[in-house]
Amino acid sequence: MTVPRPHLSFWERLYVPTLLNGFKVTFRHFWRTAVLRRPVTLSYPEEKWVVPEGYRGAPYLVRDQDGRTKCVACQLCEFICPPKAITVHPPGPEVDPATGNVEKRPRDFEIDMLRCIFCGYCQEVCPEEAIFLMKDYALVGQRREDMVYHLDKLLALGGVHLDPVQKWKHKAREAARQETFPVPVPPPQETHAAS
Ligand code: SF4
Ligand code: SF4
Repeated sequence: MTVPRPHLSFWERLYVPTLLNGFKVTFRHFWRTAVLRRPVTLSYPEEKWVVPEGYRGAPYLVRDQDGRTKCVACQLCEFICPPKAITVHPPGPEVDPATGNVEKRPRDFEIDMLRCIFCGYCQEVCPEEAIFLMKDYALVGQRREDMVYHLDKLLALGGVHLDPVQKWKHKAREAARQETFPVPVPPPQETHAAS
């Protein structure tokens, strides 16, 4: 396949207008910084960048308002993560069904922040709303291992996320009811036949 070369006019062949356009941007920044004293840079870390709404920073795990780990170790996020930054170790330890998760939670949950590209796929795919991209963008560590965040750290950084449904609460009650077997059958409702 032959791609036809566009025909350039005399001015386009000079490249002068394009160069001038580039200098225009440079001069605008120079004017703003040197003359108007409105620098476009920050004295980081003394000055912190105010992160805009909707910014996708580091992904962390969250608990619900009763302190339950919302993650159920389904591994969907591990499967979907493009750079394979997530490793989930299921299942977690058994916990009291009255207070904790009924089925399972991760034994450990690792996110390699050196690999994470903050794409947000894990947040999108999570069926439990257990992982969210927060606003942290400055992640530091002295060794590579420091940049692999584990379950406790991820939960501590993620904090509490209000869960209006709290399906585990109902599941816990259901499980408690089924502790006694056979499950007591409620007496039949009396029906009044129309005469
Ligand atoms: S934000 Fe993207 S890259 Fe980072 S852990 Fe989630 S899915 Fe993986
Ligand atoms: S964070 Fe969500 S998607 Fe990932 S393992 Fe936990 S429940 Fe599944």
